[in-house]
Amino acid sequence: MRIGTSLKRLCTAATVGVVLLAIPTAASAATPDVVTETATGAGSQSFALTIDDGPSPTWTPQVLDVLKAHGVHATFCMIGDHAAAYPDLVQRIAAEGHRLCNHTMHHINLTTQSPDQQRADIQAASDAIHAAVPGANIDYFRAPEGAWTADATQYAAQQGMQPIGWSVDTEDWRTPGVDTIFQNYKRQFSGGGVILMHDGSQENDRSQSVAAMDQILSDLANNNFTDDVPAVR
Ligand SMILES: [Zn+2]
Repeated sequence: MRIGTSLKRLCTAATVGVVLLAIPTAASAATPDVVTETATGAGSQSFALTIDDGPSPTWTPQVLDVLKAHGVHATFCMIGDHAAAYPDLVQRIAAEGHRLCNHTMHHINLTTQSPDQQRADIQAASDAIHAAVPGANIDYFRAPEGAWTADATQYAAQQGMQPIGWSVDTEDWRTPGVDTIFQNYKRQFSGGGVILMHDGSQENDRSQSVAAMDQILSDLANNNFTDDVPAVR
């Protein structure tokens, strides 16, 4: 169960077992999977790049320039507060053919919120994105910190958004240096993988992310991997 994979990031294996057992069978069957591979699938010569926590007036334009230089389209998991603050960047992301992903309004860990609060946070982010790009498709949803709940995945799916996780955590948000970010990618990536990087938040220095992204996209191209969308079920 892929939700368990995400929960593992936060819990011990024993805790995951308890959490999963606590979900009633009916709710479990109705919970959409959180995909962690491309549409072409695991093992294929493809990748999907996902970029979280923006848009940022400092870093998003630089990321968009890198993507344009490589001819790659990414999925931008945007925080609603940032989309509302920088609608011009949401418009540029959409105009340049990238995919839109709801990353909640305030980037609060969903496991700390009531079902009503979760739905409101997700809906507010979609509204903020649509205020910038009316009628645009928001194809994906990603929980902050990968902390998934059944309520959030079900609500996102009802809204036409595929819940997406990742298979490659570059840990660029830790700003460990460009080479370490690249090595994190290199160690974890296999064909059909979904790569996690960041262009926000504004208070964080994403210059390492920008530089590492350029190297990662060159490496993927050199190894004949082509960009793809995250799977939609
Ligand atoms: Zn995030």
